[in-house]
Formats: sequence, C-alpha cells, structure tokens
Amino acid sequence: MAEWKKNDRIEVVIEDMSETGEGIGKTDGFTWFIKDTVIGDKVQAKVMKTKKSYGFAKLERITEPSVNRVTPKCPVAGPCGGCQLQAMDYEEQLRYKERKIYNNITRIGGFSEVPMLPIMGMDEPWRYRNKAQFPWGLDKDGNIIVGFYAGRTHIIIGCEDCLLGAEENREVLRRIKAHMERYHLMPYDEATHKGLIRHTLIRKGFRTGELMVCQVINGKSLPHSEELVNSLLEIPGMTSISFNINKDRTNVILGDRVENLYGPGYITDSIGDVKYRISPLSFYQVNPVQTEKLYGAALEYAGLTGGETVWDLYCGIGTISLFLAQKAKKVYGVEIVPQAIEDARENARLNGLDNVEFFVGKAEEVLPEQYEKNHVYADVIVVDPPRKGCDEACLNTIVKMAPKRVVYVSCDSATLARDMKYLAERGYKVEKVRGCDMFPQGLHVETVCLLERVKSDVS
Ligand code: SAH
Repeated sequence: MAEWKKNDRIEVVIEDMSETGEGIGKTDGFTWFIKDTVIGDKVQAKVMKTKKSYGFAKLERITEPSVNRVTPKCPVAGPCGGCQLQAMDYEEQLRYKERKIYNNITRIGGFSEVPMLPIMGMDEPWRYRNKAQFPWGLDKDGNIIVGFYAGRTHIIIGCEDCLLGAEENREVLRRIKAHMERYHLMPYDEATHKGLIRHTLIRKGFRTGELMVCQVINGKSLPHSEELVNSLLEIPGMTSISFNINKDRTNVILGDRVENLYGPGYITDSIGDVKYRISPLSFYQVNPVQTEKLYGAALEYAGLTGGETVWDLYCGIGTISLFLAQKAKKVYGVEIVPQAIEDARENARLNGLDNVEFFVGKAEEVLPEQYEKNHVYADVIVVDPPRKGCDEACLNTIVKMAPKRVVYVSCDSATLARDMKYLAERGYKVEKVRGCDMFPQGLHVETVCLLERVKSDVS
C-alpha cells in the first residue's frame, strides 16, 4: 500500500494530534505522524519510516501556518517537551480536548449521542501548578544548572522559571544555587552517583500562599543548612523547609526519609471548604483551581440531599470523599495506597468530618467483599480510577449494588468510554459528560460523567 520511500517529500494538512503530541495528517488515506506541527498547519515533510497504513515524517517547512498557531511563551517549550500544546492557542487546545473525549465516547463506547456540556477551561492557563520538582546538574562548561529533563531523556534543559509553576520557584532556585556556589556543594551526577544536590521540590498552597521547599540530597546532611534556611525565609510565604534523603541509584525523585529544618513539616491548603495538610511525601492534586471545578461538578452530579450513602472508589487522599461528606449521610472511601488512606483519615479529622470511613485495598476486591459479606448499600457511587479505568469485577459489583447514580471521574476518556459502555448495557443511562482542563498546554484532559439508573429491577 505504501509507495513512499525514505526521504520522499510530502504535503500534508494536519487534522489531529496523537497521544504523544505529534500532528496527524493524511495523503490518499495514508496516515502520517509529524512532530512540531499543530492542527490546521499545512506542511511539507520528509518521509522517515513507513508501516502498512501509517508512517512518520520530519517537518521541513510550514507552508501555511494554522490560524490557531501561536508562538510558544516559554523559550524552552521545544526541547523541554513538557508542554506539547504550547504552539496552539488556548481556545483550540480546549476544542481539541473536547473532541478527543467525544471521539472516544462515540468510537470506543459506541454511543451515538453524547450529552456533552462545555469543557471547563482555565481563565488564566499559566502558572497553575502548585508543585514543581527541579533536577540540578552541570552544563558542558561545568556550570551549575537547574531545570527539567528534556522529553524522555535525562539531559537537563536549564529553566529556572517554568511558566506553569509558581512565580516564587525562581527565587527559591536562585537562593539554593547561591548556597551551592558559596559552599561548593556539587549537584548530583547520575552517571557517577556522586554529588550531593538532587532535585528541589517546591509546593505552594494557592489559597494560603504557604510555601514548602524540600531539598533532596544524596547524603546524610545538608551543610550550612542554617544559612540556607535564613536565606529562604526571606521569601514571603515560606512555611516549611526540609531535606529528603535519597542515596539510591534510581529515577525515583524522593527517598523515604524527610528531615525537618524549619516549620511544622507541612503546609496547609484548601479546596472548596475542605482543608488539607500537605507534607513533602503526600499526594495532592497539582492544579487546585481546576480540581475544585472538577470535583465541584462531581459533587453536583452526585445530587446529594443529606441522607445518602456514598462510595468513593479510588479515593486517594480523600479529596472527593471529603467534598461529598459535607453533603452526605455517610461516605466510604477505598484506595490501594495505605499512606494515602492515612492522609485521608488525617484530613477527615482536620475538617471535623466524622461521617467518612476508609478502606485500604483494591476497589475490585474491597467492594465485592463488602457487598457479599456485609451487604453494603450505596445511593451514589463515585469512581476516579487511574488511566487503566475500572476493573470489570468492580463494575460488576457496582451494577449489582444498583446505586441511583454513578459519577465517573476519568483521566483517560478511552477507558472511560469502555466502562460507560459496560454500565450502559446493564441498566445505566449517560446523562452528562463534561471535560475539565487540568493540564493546560499539555495533552491530558479529565472528564466527569453522570450515569443514572433507568432499570428498576436488577437482573
Ligand atoms: N480522587 C483522588 C485521586 C484519584 S487518582 C484524590 O483526590 O486523591 C487514582 C487513585 O487510585 C490513586 O490514588 C491510586 O493509588 C488508586 N488506585 C489505583 N489502583 C487502584 C485499585 N485497584 N483500587 C483502589 N485504588 C486504586
């Protein structure tokens, strides 16, 4: 079928984007993947490799730029690779994400009609991340640099001011660098496993303005830490300073041990009316503004009036559970990571919510077990699974429990579509689907979906 040879020149109009950010276009029904293009670009490209029905080509020239093409704001957007959509204007990014959800639900889910509400975008799609982890290294001239690993490599691209992160990050990094230079502290080198200073973790409570710095080190202690603490304390909002010990040869950023240098060991933030304590090792949603919108929609779809029993599966640190607990009679959360459940229980106490109970375990094991043994009941079930979606044993038990409503929060609309189909074939009707852009400039999109039970008897 493919009559193209390597280095042949092709003219393509880009119509879509792949899961990894390449532009997709067609010539005579043959599909091409071309990096560094955006939807609507007309390009000339050189053939690199072909398979049976698709091929890869290298961009040579944009002959007609897309009307939605913009100059990336960040000077290292290309090499860094963290923001695959920066060359597309934000409105088009949102349309692209909405179309991706719709296409998955129709193609994979087999639905002919999708009751979609407009995607929830950000008013200001920059500086939304409350967490950043910057690796340190040396450039080829031996100067200390800090930044990000270039896409899929461990080459550091110098960048002290990521435009997705907090403004304060730059000042934190500047002060750490000055400290390293003053006391001759070497950055960690992966090849030789030498050097002290590994990643710097910075977190900010967007509501409270509280800042946390945790310096990861390949050693037992951080020399002259008092001076570093004093320097960092000049930054407004600085609340917690610590170091983390990671002496392993590993890609994992944080080790298990945190030594406190200043403050209570955590910062506080809130989503809606719920407060959270965030320590260096705990999980917390990285885009708090959009999390509030996404979980707000989940809460609205749950339709609680105060008397309901709700199960929140894949509950993590209980963000959704605690949101729901404010309006429900009882909430049960299930999560596989024990540490997350400890945080969830702590957060429940912190907010004085005593109508939540958490289980550690797999949703597909805990729920069937509780249903068979204890005949647990649910008016509403909320799920927020990882990318692979829900296990069939979990969905099967949901169907048996027959809640009035299922609210599905998803970070991958392909598996969402698959699971929606399963539920729709067993008595549930899709009432609402809504996208939420948690990662502006990036490829991922979250979806929240309401399914309502239409069958009155369970068969
Ligand atoms: N709503 C949560 C985040 C959900 S992310 C919060 O706000 O914290 C998905 C979660 O599912 C992760 O915490 C992950 O640890 C958990 N998980 C993954 N597989 C699981 C399984 N089989 N059963 C239960 N939880 C699981």
